[in-house]
Amino acid sequence: MKSFPIVILGGGVVAGYAAKEFVAQSGKKGGLAIITAENALPYERPPLSKGFLAGKEGAGDIQISDAAFYRQHGITVFRNLPVGKVDFRRCRLQSTSGKVIGFDQLLIATGSTVRRLEVPGASGSEVFYLRQLKDSQAIREQIKRGRRAVVIGAGFIGMEVASVLASHGVRTTMVFPDDRVWKRLFTPPVSTFFERQFAGQGITFMKSDKVVVLTHKNHECQVVLASGNQVLTDFVVAGIGVTPSMELFHRTPLDTDAGIKVNKFLETSVPGVWAAGDIANYPDQIFHRRMRVEHWDNAVEQGRVAMRNMMGKLQPFIHVPYFFSDAFDLSYEFWGDATGYDQVVYRGNLYEKQFSVWWLKNQTLCAALIMNRSEEERSVAPRWILRHSRLDPQALQNTRNLKSLDTTFGREE
Ligand SMILES: Cc1cc2nc3c(=O)[nH]c(=O)nc-3n(C[C@H](O)[C@H](O)[C@H](O)COP(=O)(O)OP(=O)(O)OC[C@H]3O[C@@H](n4cnc5c(N)ncnc54)[C@H](O)[C@@H]3O)c2cc1C
Repeated sequence: MKSFPIVILGGGVVAGYAAKEFVAQSGKKGGLAIITAENALPYERPPLSKGFLAGKEGAGDIQISDAAFYRQHGITVFRNLPVGKVDFRRCRLQSTSGKVIGFDQLLIATGSTVRRLEVPGASGSEVFYLRQLKDSQAIREQIKRGRRAVVIGAGFIGMEVASVLASHGVRTTMVFPDDRVWKRLFTPPVSTFFERQFAGQGITFMKSDKVVVLTHKNHECQVVLASGNQVLTDFVVAGIGVTPSMELFHRTPLDTDAGIKVNKFLETSVPGVWAAGDIANYPDQIFHRRMRVEHWDNAVEQGRVAMRNMMGKLQPFIHVPYFFSDAFDLSYEFWGDATGYDQVVYRGNLYEKQFSVWWLKNQTLCAALIMNRSEEERSVAPRWILRHSRLDPQALQNTRNLKSLDTTFGREE
């Protein structure tokens, strides 16, 4: 049985950045192993619905580190090795093929699993999901063949995929249960903005509707909706959300609750076992409640902090949640958590594709979305969220020089 001082279970974004941190912290050769079910070294997942899907990047371009990095630093990456069992008492992992690997400390980073459609016909070969490199490769191939697509879901995956498909001349219909795109995050004017942009690129919306049956014939798929409407298509991409990849941990001593519960240092209820990324349910030190964040930046930062802590640093994870998305020529960033907001302030001009949205709760900034605005806005948004800055909404809307509103500048971080 091979054994390692540190093992990372899951070879995604957390693993890629935790491995870099291991090296930055002068980890010894032979001190780290990564085990992944995929046939790839850890890679960046966001390009799978952007540049990689669009054919602008290859598999090599999106690797977090290349093979030489792992070789040079004596980091073992076990690929194609799905783990089927974890024995926390004996500190061992067992692959579904029977291989056993031991650890002194374990970092769980199994990420998320896509939700699947549960309707008749959902297992047809014209139905695609998007989580892994091979999924994006399959959709990329399909773009070359199919001229019509139905995208189910209007969160960031659905929106990004629809934009790539439409940019490649695929006639795209988006079907989703809400009355506007990404209702959970966007305010009504922001949804309207995106819908206008998407419609301008030829995308059709079928809102407030649900798929009930998919029928397949001669490489075509008939998508039947609850309203009775039907769409004939060459293929379907479902982006209907994800759930944390928890199967391995159900009957184990780990404390779980919609993810694996960790403390502020990202250590689980089992000493020496840590969790980071999409799977980690952590006590957020800024919003003072438990969170689980399914975004790239969270995986990067938690991967780094968890590795430093496993190597003896012990620092709490304090980080403003952040994510970015691109659709057509529209790139935007989002910071914070808008839960419980009571006021929204807009700056800029939604018609000129340059605006920002500021969510306030009791006049305290809790979230911001920024598209094509000044560097100043980008820099104050996370800072004010971190500091619970109280802001006058009127002044926030009208002041040109935002720094003049900020009483915290110049203070120590
Ligand atoms: C298409 C796509 C686009 C995205 N775009 C954005 C974006 O624009 N902005 C943004 O902020 N975020 C984006 N995200 C989200 C972001 O990529 C994730 O939050 C991030 O990848 C989470 O990292 P992770 O390491 O926790 O999990 P993952 O990167 O998913 O890695 C988990 C790894 O664990 C492996 N694994 C799971 N179970 C086992 C097992 N039993 N045995 C062995 N290996 C196992 C998996 O195969 C996988 O390799 C996107 C995600 C996807 C899928």
